[in-house]
Amino acid sequence: MTAGRTRGVARPIRRFGDPVLRTPTDEVVDFDESLARLVEDMMASMYAAEGVGLAANQIGVGLSVFVYDCADASGERHVGHVVNPVLVSTDGDLDESDEGCLSVPGLYYDTARPSYAAVEGVDITGAPIRVAGDGQLARCLQHETDHLKGLLFLDRLHGRTKRRAMREVMSADWPDR
Ligand code: ZN
Repeated sequence: MTAGRTRGVARPIRRFGDPVLRTPTDEVVDFDESLARLVEDMMASMYAAEGVGLAANQIGVGLSVFVYDCADASGERHVGHVVNPVLVSTDGDLDESDEGCLSVPGLYYDTARPSYAAVEGVDITGAPIRVAGDGQLARCLQHETDHLKGLLFLDRLHGRTKRRAMREVMSADWPDR
């Protein structure tokens, strides 16, 4: 990041029901100043909402970018962004832990995901990057790449948990923002 650039501005986070969350995002082709600003705003938005990851369409931007700040199973913290991410591999036992989403505030459900994930993409300059790991990081990488395809973690639920989730989501009384 260039020294002296103004810090990102937190933008409102779109909630369940907003069509932008159901629309697959477009590949980024312009690696310009506005992309850098988008990533800064996404980081600011994620921190303001106390999240561990955020996809661009969650702030209403239909581009394939996510940011993250989360730990792997060893507790090591990983912070960054991925442009045009592709989930290249998942592995390991299914980990069925609590998962939530800034677009589905206050609701958490046990969601089965492989315990290891690897994502490849590029950074804001277009240089190739790879992010991989286990623990919360693996869950986050899968959750955010899902977002960019128009999927929500609710889509990964099954059976009774899914029915309970849909009931609670439909009756959720989220304040306007
Ligand atoms: Zn989410």
